[in-house]
Amino acid sequence: MQMICRTSSAMAAFPCSRVRSGFRVWPGVRQLCFRKGLLYGFLRFFSTPLKTLRGASRSLRVNQFCSVVNLSPTLQIELVPCLSDNYAYLLHDVDTGTVGVVDPSEAMPVIDALKKKNRNLTYILNTHHHYDHTGGNEELKERYGAKVIGSAIDRDRIPGIDIILNDGDKWMFAGHEVVVMETPGHTRGHISFYFPGSGVIFTGDTLFSLSCGKLFEGTPEQMLSSLKKITALPDDTNIYCGHEYTLSNSKFALSIEPQNEALKSYASHVAHLRSKGLATIPTTLKMEKSCNPFLRTSSVDIRRSLNIADTADDAEALGIIRQAKDNF
Ligand SMILES: [Zn+2]
Repeated sequence: MQMICRTSSAMAAFPCSRVRSGFRVWPGVRQLCFRKGLLYGFLRFFSTPLKTLRGASRSLRVNQFCSVVNLSPTLQIELVPCLSDNYAYLLHDVDTGTVGVVDPSEAMPVIDALKKKNRNLTYILNTHHHYDHTGGNEELKERYGAKVIGSAIDRDRIPGIDIILNDGDKWMFAGHEVVVMETPGHTRGHISFYFPGSGVIFTGDTLFSLSCGKLFEGTPEQMLSSLKKITALPDDTNIYCGHEYTLSNSKFALSIEPQNEALKSYASHVAHLRSKGLATIPTTLKMEKSCNPFLRTSSVDIRRSLNIADTADDAEALGIIRQAKDNF
């Protein structure tokens, strides 16, 4: 196993906003392209016809027309639907051709996506040990010789783990800095992968759009602390979570904060996307702060809806909101 040295320096945040970095759409997949380094003054346009993605969400279609502005050496992210509602994410560094995958629930959709581009796989990044995030590890490792990366806390629970990371570690993916953030609550060893140069974070089952993960191995205090770490990042950070749960999450969120105009508007947008079979991911931190009840534990309306006492602290409120969501 390769050990990574822990660093003490603070996370450097140089996020490229979605506007600055732009979108690129490739046949059959949705990818976001991010600036890495100096801006180059050219404009390129890409377009693709409506296509149906393979994988478990076989009805997921992509029909965006996008432009890429000031794009230089890039990191591309490709969403790969797996199982019934999971997402794996392929990371591709254009300069070196290095490819990684975040949370491969199963191998086949990832292999299919790699085959289409005739690409190899170098790294497998796991946010936590659950099978619907690691189920493809061993087959992918066997096929491509990829290195599996995960939390030191879960070194005995992540299949095929090679590279062990701790909170605050900085690991490099083909020249892109990746900051490891321990975000327990859903599981003890849950970590999130933050790419400060691209303004992207992979939050696994800690932060979803409009919800957070169930507290299987942690307390409301731990989840609150994990969410606070994430909300300390810049507002334009793009959030890639482990599941397409947004539509059902929106129904719960609306039930406890029906007057939240930002939430009403986002929920309507989400319903529209899902009616077209489109993904709601990524979301942004700004959107989540406005709409996600688990980031809004001090909301008077939410507290009134769930009879949470004024004296209850944020962790108590989060626990009550989580319980209400579990029973919704
Ligand atoms: Zn999980």
